[in-house]
Amino acid sequence: MVLKPRRDHPILEGHPWVFTGAVARHPTGVEPGGIVGVRASDGLFIGKGYYNPESSIPVRILTVDPDEEIDRPFLQRRIERAMALRRDHFDPEVTSAYRLVHGETDALPGLIVDRYADYLVVQFHTMGMDRLKAMVVDVLERVGGAKGIFERSDVGTRRAEGFEVFPVGVLSGDEPPERIEFVENGVRFWVDVSKGQKTGFFLDQRDNRLELERHCKDSDVLNLFSFSGGFSVYAAQGGARSAVSVDISEPAVAMARANLELNGFDPATHPCIAANCFDYLKESRAAGRMFDVVVVDPPAFVSNREALDKALKSYISLNRRAIDLVRPGGILVTSSCSTQVDYDQFYRVVKHAATAARREVHLFKSHLMSIDHPASSRFPEGRYLKCLFGVVR
Ligand code: SAH
Repeated sequence: MVLKPRRDHPILEGHPWVFTGAVARHPTGVEPGGIVGVRASDGLFIGKGYYNPESSIPVRILTVDPDEEIDRPFLQRRIERAMALRRDHFDPEVTSAYRLVHGETDALPGLIVDRYADYLVVQFHTMGMDRLKAMVVDVLERVGGAKGIFERSDVGTRRAEGFEVFPVGVLSGDEPPERIEFVENGVRFWVDVSKGQKTGFFLDQRDNRLELERHCKDSDVLNLFSFSGGFSVYAAQGGARSAVSVDISEPAVAMARANLELNGFDPATHPCIAANCFDYLKESRAAGRMFDVVVVDPPAFVSNREALDKALKSYISLNRRAIDLVRPGGILVTSSCSTQVDYDQFYRVVKHAATAARREVHLFKSHLMSIDHPASSRFPEGRYLKCLFGVVR
């Protein structure tokens, strides 16, 4: 593949994506997912990656070393490096679930590997990484130290790659139990890796859950978009008087209840409600219900640039309703996992929401990425999570 003049800079600076618009000449005779060399317009080799003409990112760079083969030892080097970065940070007695491989940031574009105690859950997002599946599994069997490897490639992003199959199932070793138990900061959780959302748990909120715990003593906490109750269990652990979990998904709500019980908390004190959060907010407002802490962690509202304005309006309206329910001096914890919404835009969401609610929010903590979900300086597209903590006056 040859790039257009002056389109080689991002690759030379370490960015892993070649966009369609940068391509002067596509390779011939390379199957989707196959390996190609990438050259600058003057013919200079600048990288090697996997090719998919169906994608708006036809090449994702795997190496800039012309002599490096894309083979099992290559994958092993990359996976071991990713594992080494995590190993020092997580004591399995305290935290036994974390992201082991975070795609592009770990120089393994299209590959996600999450560890849940003795099991690994993997996602192959791209045609190119899918073609390397057998070797990836082989490496994970050798170095992953797991009883079983389970695939959760039921991800919408595969559609953009031209896939028609979204495989879910055991790739190697034991089938995971219906619920795997793990610990996170010493808190116990169950995860259903075969049916839970994504790979089964939102590991990226770990640090924010821990921060939340510090602010919940004797508080009434509302956890909106609670999924399997992550924030609620930490709230209860932090001494909350009550922690209400609200999620639209029945199985998620059942899991939230189970996770509270697993840690010795009574779901009668900490109710888990299957409901639409927008309805719950309206009803609570009408009933005059208030909370000391409100956590807002919705799914991504925006998947493309065009939808950004609409998404920002939805974020403002949601946060305004959440702020309405916070007692004076209480705390708002609000997140956005939309890649297209950057930190400043999300700050402005809170600003506009507070103005609309005729309140003031003193932001005191913001959290972006975590050690196992880092965003590379070479890959700004990897930034997605924003979580802000503020005192609502
Ligand atoms: N805070 C969670 C992760 C939230 S993921 C954690 O720490 O684990 C987003 C959740 O929002 C999903 O569980 C999804 O079922 C739920 N959801 C999506 N739309 C919703 C709606 N309108 N009302 C309530 N829950 C919703």
